[in-house]
Amino acid sequence: MNMNTNEAGFLAALKAAAGDKAVRTGAEIPAAALNDWSTEQGGAPLALVTPKDTQTVSAIMATCHAHGVAVVPQGGRTGLAGGAVPSEGCVLISIAGFDRIEEIDTASGLMVVGAGCILQRVQEAAAEAGFFFPLDLGARGSCQIGGNIATNAGGNRVIRYGMMRDLVLGLEVVQADGTVLSMMNRMPKNNAALDMKHLFIGSEGTLGVITRAVLRLHPGVAGANAALVALPDFAAAASLLQHAQKVLSGRVTAFELMWNDYYSAVLSETALRPPLAADHPLYALIEVQGADPDADRPVFEAMLESAFEAGTVIDAAIAQSQRETEAFWTLRDGIAELLSRRAPTINFDVSVPLARIGACVDEMRAALEAAYPSLGMLFFGHAGDSNIHLVAGPITELDPTGHGIETIVYGIVRDFAGSVSAEHGIGLHKKPWLSYSRSANELALLRGLKATLDPAGILNSGKVL
Ligand SMILES: Cc1cc2nc3c(=O)[nH]c(=O)nc-3n(C[C@H](O)[C@H](O)[C@H](O)COP(=O)(O)OP(=O)(O)OC[C@H]3O[C@@H](n4cnc5c(N)ncnc54)[C@H](O)[C@@H]3O)c2cc1C
Repeated sequence: MNMNTNEAGFLAALKAAAGDKAVRTGAEIPAAALNDWSTEQGGAPLALVTPKDTQTVSAIMATCHAHGVAVVPQGGRTGLAGGAVPSEGCVLISIAGFDRIEEIDTASGLMVVGAGCILQRVQEAAAEAGFFFPLDLGARGSCQIGGNIATNAGGNRVIRYGMMRDLVLGLEVVQADGTVLSMMNRMPKNNAALDMKHLFIGSEGTLGVITRAVLRLHPGVAGANAALVALPDFAAAASLLQHAQKVLSGRVTAFELMWNDYYSAVLSETALRPPLAADHPLYALIEVQGADPDADRPVFEAMLESAFEAGTVIDAAIAQSQRETEAFWTLRDGIAELLSRRAPTINFDVSVPLARIGACVDEMRAALEAAYPSLGMLFFGHAGDSNIHLVAGPITELDPTGHGIETIVYGIVRDFAGSVSAEHGIGLHKKPWLSYSRSANELALLRGLKATLDPAGILNSGKVL
């Protein structure tokens, strides 16, 4: 790379801030750092920095701020919205070196971690200490807590424990100009003015670099009761969820829906054994985790029996072991294989008010079938959290950019007063559609916040807004 004096001067300053060994440029930057799990293509980064402590992040940010150089924070790069892909000439800042579990405070039920800790490691450390860290998603082995916080990740158990936002007690953030903002609160209650950590949770790397966090732990679970049930329609699914929450005192930990298109595809395209016949309109995976699953079992079975008698449930398979529970989850997690088989696809992560999910899915299906009669569609999702996923494709012949399909789907989401992103964030991919879910006044406030917290506009510029 031919460097002009400015670049050379900047890189010298960056190395002085980060240390020579923590700065890589040109061909030294690994190819993996250029992408995340989205289809978004980024630009060529100027450098990749890998700091290991907060003071170094602060020095790096101060240097980039002074030189007006863009910075893209990276976690595990499992994001699906293109938030972590490099912009042209940026500095990539990887937080992977912040992989320390600093403390588990068993009396307070909290864990202090570096933002680079892999989610699965946090889950395992919590379990070893007799606790439960409930955030769980398919990318658990690669995504980092900092990335989970920056995207306000959701996943499989939001219905019971909330999103990442609900699991964060405190945060340490380095601001765009290098200022270290320590908000390492350890109390569930702290109303000493506005709780500013929430500005950074879900900000997708645009307002600050998250370096450490205090996480809220929940009491340990010993196992689960789970069932896969067949349902006649969405109205039955909504009433089953309400019934289950009532009978089980709000302890349902997952309520995942799979429409027939998804269920049939996952069975025919993977080697999985069908727990139920594939000719029902809708399937729900329902799970109740607890400290004493054996004691919960009769209540769980009675709940399903009464739903069966009421005609809400047409057929059911109840897991007889942990292995069977895992087999049910394999059906739901089979989406990873379907995605690669059907590539290229357009993947939607939307939410609409729970009561309207059935009507919304019907309308999307009808509109897409009318416009693209041969388009493959898979509907499924964390329906207990109002979250629907749609995988549409392969799109190669029908709508190579996916724009026509997106226009239809996001238009319907807007009509249903839903959100264009339930959990994956906006990143680069959903930027054109953000105004479908946020009013002009909300967007103006967001721009004002960005200008205040990042006046030089260096942090993940060009993403989200
Ligand atoms: C198989 C699979 C299943 C998935 N399932 C789910 C799911 O169920 N629910 C869900 O919500 N998501 C899901 N995801 C998406 C993804 O795993 C989450 O968005 C995750 O939280 C991203 O974490 P990450 O560390 O990989 O972040 P990255 O992809 O590296 O970054 C994501 C965004 O956060 C920013 N960022 C990362 N680290 C920091 C930091 N330390 N400080 C400031 N900004 C930062 C980046 O700039 C970027 O904008 C899934 C992804 C895959 C591949």
